[in-house]
Amino acid sequence: MHDLSRRKLLKATAVGAGAVALPGLLSGGTPGFAADTAGWSSSEKHPPARLTGRIVRPQDPDYADASLGWDELFVRYPLVIVFAQETQDVVNALTWARQNDVALRVRSGRHSLEGWSNVDNGIVIDVSELKSTDIDTAARVARVGAGLNQLEAVTALAEHDLAATTGTEGSVGLSGATLGGGFGFLTRYLGMACDNLIGAEVVLPHGADGAKAVEVDLHHHSDLLWALRGAGNGNFGIVTSLTYQAAPLRSVAYLQATWEGLDDLHAVFDTWQRSAPFTDPRLGTQLEIHKSEILLFGVLAEGSEAEARHLLEPVLSIGSPQVTVQLGNWGDIYSGFQVPIEDEPANWKFFSQFTNEPFPKKAISVIRGFMEDAPSEESNFFTQAFGRGAQTNEPQGGTAFPHRRALFYSEPGAGWGTRGEPDSGDAVTPIAQAWIAEFSQALRPYVNGAYVNVPNIGMAERETAYWGDNFDRLRKIKAKYDPHNVFQYEQSVPPATC
Ligand SMILES: Cc1cc2nc3c(=O)[nH]c(=O)nc-3n(C[C@H](O)[C@H](O)[C@H](O)COP(=O)(O)OP(=O)(O)OC[C@H]3O[C@@H](n4cnc5c(N)ncnc54)[C@H](O)[C@@H]3O)c2cc1C
Repeated sequence: MHDLSRRKLLKATAVGAGAVALPGLLSGGTPGFAADTAGWSSSEKHPPARLTGRIVRPQDPDYADASLGWDELFVRYPLVIVFAQETQDVVNALTWARQNDVALRVRSGRHSLEGWSNVDNGIVIDVSELKSTDIDTAARVARVGAGLNQLEAVTALAEHDLAATTGTEGSVGLSGATLGGGFGFLTRYLGMACDNLIGAEVVLPHGADGAKAVEVDLHHHSDLLWALRGAGNGNFGIVTSLTYQAAPLRSVAYLQATWEGLDDLHAVFDTWQRSAPFTDPRLGTQLEIHKSEILLFGVLAEGSEAEARHLLEPVLSIGSPQVTVQLGNWGDIYSGFQVPIEDEPANWKFFSQFTNEPFPKKAISVIRGFMEDAPSEESNFFTQAFGRGAQTNEPQGGTAFPHRRALFYSEPGAGWGTRGEPDSGDAVTPIAQAWIAEFSQALRPYVNGAYVNVPNIGMAERETAYWGDNFDRLRKIKAKYDPHNVFQYEQSVPPATC
């Protein structure tokens, strides 16, 4: 495998490089803003780098598979994909990208909801094959490779009766979820995934054209740890390993309730939003409203079936839901409720919203109206209870994730098209896109924040919506560790300029 010359690369990247300018052409850095004692913004030059690891280029038979993300709405044609096998492969890839002025993206679980972990004519640095796990059961500290997906992480910890918060879908990358915040059934019990993150290995830009791996924790580059806890996705560096403080978790009660039709929606939603966020913090719940049914999911940590039913009684007493409860090890329960990716629609579009006050009747009517008109049965309005729980407290060192006072999180999501059949959803695409835009617009009066892991394109003041008052600090940290703005994409954090 030989590397392309700089001249050829510039030619190759000249057309259609997405919205990304070539890093070298943009640089210029941020003079005068350098709390830099480690050389991130120095002019040191590095020897020419060579790509290492498992390398996939357009002419390779596995290129199509290697390029495809979870959301097939977005198709990109990268110049090269590097599947890192060790940290040094990431160092080499980042150095190579800088030395050759090639646009770059970082990728782990491929679930970026706007396709931003891939780029036309650029390099994708993929960490998904970094799968190490090292669990100190006495200290309950787990150091894992950045390539684990959530199912692999939950399973590895559950084998030791341990847990850290993750999102609900097993195939989502642990890195992507944690670095943007990460919530799921255990959020009210254990905090956000990023609250459980106590350290990381990160490959950062170094000098004029190089890269370097550093360890980040509460005592080393603690400002960067703060930034990685909620704003770390593709903004500062490439995370190659994550260290979590885990908690004991032996078993859970998992409850699922189904109401046919939407006739009970007002009562179910209103009762849920007034009870689930305030109930026992061991209980995490989600509502999923479809065109023709309402689903309620609950996970009660270290609880019994009777307790789960009792805590959810206010909601379960509405209408005649079908209710099932399972008890078991968290790893078994978690793997048991996964939906195989092949069974999911190919294309998806979401809009994220945090809410601090209960939705009034009018807002619930908006949900009902749009769901009755949903572009497919898989399309849904999803919620996750926050409220009184562990996530209200920041961990030591703080986090860039700001939504500590949320009552609940919600998102309309449209899913359509068949996987592996690229044109199958084309007729529905404009309808689904318009549905999401109008649905989220109709809820605007009732929401007050957004989730960076479910990015909202074209949203005014998105920085405040994602990070509250934390954006200025993020820009300063960016200027310190990535002064040349090597890591940039459609909604990346720009470096502070003074
Ligand atoms: C089906 C589905 C269900 C979801 N459910 C939940 C949920 O329950 N809770 C929740 O909190 N979120 C949920 N999400 C959102 C999810 O957290 C984000 O989509 C997440 O960013 C995906 O991470 P990834 O690694 O899979 O994706 P990727 O596409 O690989 O990456 C996503 C972003 O993270 C960056 N990134 C990835 N790896 C690294 C790394 N090692 N270092 C630096 N940057 C990196 C990428 O550059 C990109 O910007 C869900 C998403 C989907 C598609």
